[in-house]
Amino acid sequence: MFFIDSHCHLNLIKNIKKKIIIKKSLKNYINFILSISLDINDYKKMFKKFKYYNNILFSCGIHPLYLNKNINLRKFKKLSLNNKVIAIGETGLDYKNLTFKPIQKYLFRYHIRLAKKINKPLIVHNRNSFNDIVRILKEENAQKCKGVLHCFTGSKKKAKILLDMKFYISFSGIITYLNKEKIKEIINFIPLNKILLETDSPFLSPIPFKNKQNQPSNLIYIAKIIADIKKITLTKLSEITNKNFCNLFKIKFC
Ligand SMILES: [Zn+2]
Repeated sequence: MFFIDSHCHLNLIKNIKKKIIIKKSLKNYINFILSISLDINDYKKMFKKFKYYNNILFSCGIHPLYLNKNINLRKFKKLSLNNKVIAIGETGLDYKNLTFKPIQKYLFRYHIRLAKKINKPLIVHNRNSFNDIVRILKEENAQKCKGVLHCFTGSKKKAKILLDMKFYISFSGIITYLNKEKIKEIINFIPLNKILLETDSPFLSPIPFKNKQNQPSNLIYIAKIIADIKKITLTKLSEITNKNFCNLFKIKFC
């Protein structure tokens, strides 16, 4: 049995050696990691540090809260073509910062168009912007490249909209903080073949590590909750979510 952490930021994990992160992950059955980039510089650093690990893959993209004036879109396009880059993002909209709304939208569309062009799925981030995200995904016909909405905490209604667009839904440690009945209802609503698991390390540590730095090894605590709610074994959950990961990201190891 093994799990895949479908969304973490390896480059942001501090004060732990690379080898230790991997070793601890393997001990908790986390064999593969998709490390997500926040901007071009972050991608370059992350790639340089972790490119020699066969069990680590990457995304390339510019997070809506990591915008700056000198975004080199040509460079972004070029880096995205690398074989170890299996996804475009993280992109999306974050309305915590409203001053950058127009540029966030512009870049979100740019990511979707690139993802479609090079046939790699999207990693989508949402904060208080669900309706705009869905509208843009539809306008840009993102069904063609597909993707995942990460750190999902929304309603059944929102989940249904994403499922209808053939998107996957990913759960993080947030599910250990929220109302148990609400989480049960939403997880029961989403079919197993649409669920991905993530830690979003170093953020959002699940209970019992809340407020500490998160790392991929903690994925097992999220998996346990979902297996419990879905009334299946951890082995079964790992098989299904690995298959989902491979289907979405067109990977062959499972
Ligand atoms: Zn993230």
